[in-house]
Amino acid sequence: MRAYARILNSALFYGKNWSIMKKNQLFGGIEGGGTKFVCAVGTGPYDIRAEVRFPTTTPKETLDQAIAFFQEHDGISAIGVASFGPLDPRPASATFGQILSTPKAGWSGAQIVESLRGSFDLPIGFDTDVNGAALGEFCWGAAQGLDTFIYLTLGTGIGGGAYVNGRLLHGLLHPEMGHIAVPHDLMQDPFEGACPFHKDCFEGLASGVAMEKRWGQRAETLPSDHPGWELEAHYIAHALASYIYTLSPQRIIIGGGIGQHTRLLPDVQQKTISILNGYVRAPAILENIQTYIVSPGLGDRAGVAGAIALAKQAFQEK
Ligand code: ZN
Repeated sequence: MRAYARILNSALFYGKNWSIMKKNQLFGGIEGGGTKFVCAVGTGPYDIRAEVRFPTTTPKETLDQAIAFFQEHDGISAIGVASFGPLDPRPASATFGQILSTPKAGWSGAQIVESLRGSFDLPIGFDTDVNGAALGEFCWGAAQGLDTFIYLTLGTGIGGGAYVNGRLLHGLLHPEMGHIAVPHDLMQDPFEGACPFHKDCFEGLASGVAMEKRWGQRAETLPSDHPGWELEAHYIAHALASYIYTLSPQRIIIGGGIGQHTRLLPDVQQKTISILNGYVRAPAILENIQTYIVSPGLGDRAGVAGAIALAKQAFQEK
């Protein structure tokens, strides 16, 4: 019994195959963004031992820089990549580990996982940036102990990751929560929308790009009492109501640059309650909305934490 307790003290048991995770185990994380890559080595978001960031250029040049960074660090157990998409995160698929068709020049078909496997004999985790951020929030942030929740990022674009019944949601490919339809009253908001695929989808009406096109200035320069913020909260609340109806999340985490605007969250909370109109009779919504629609627990560490969380998951599932 004492030996058993000692094992529990020195190691944590995880995963289908009971892979043993040691304390202080090092993971590599790549936060792959459309404009910059962040690579980090650490045990978690509060223990980053080394970090580097560089601009996203061609796939080869960018991935070579990431590989060179990890080759400088010994003892990494797995590498996780939380990337811009669309991408293929399904390990059983022939195109697993690739960026799919993207407007970003040169990146369609980029083989991220294969490039890393060419240099490292390690488990490689690969998922969307928002699914990664969701997993990071589950491990260390605002979603600890939950089994179904959403991580939404509101920035230049809009994307959502979903953790459903204890797993990141993939399905056909991965969720595209930014592109759902939201009610668009052209009398109230004559802006036609900025999405190249759908014009006035949620992202087309509420992304940073949409706000800048509509108001002629960047969202972060709009004063707090500008009507643009109320309109923004209106669209976000409609999107959240749709996610609540379809996925029944136990919590919704809102990250990204626009999501952190001080005026936004309380407005979104109240408008979401108003749109649901008492139909979803959950105390979490009706009585505790401040702890239901929340900011990321990891703040601006959510991205790199997500990549490390994907590495940890890949190690556990190897
Ligand atoms: Zn769209």
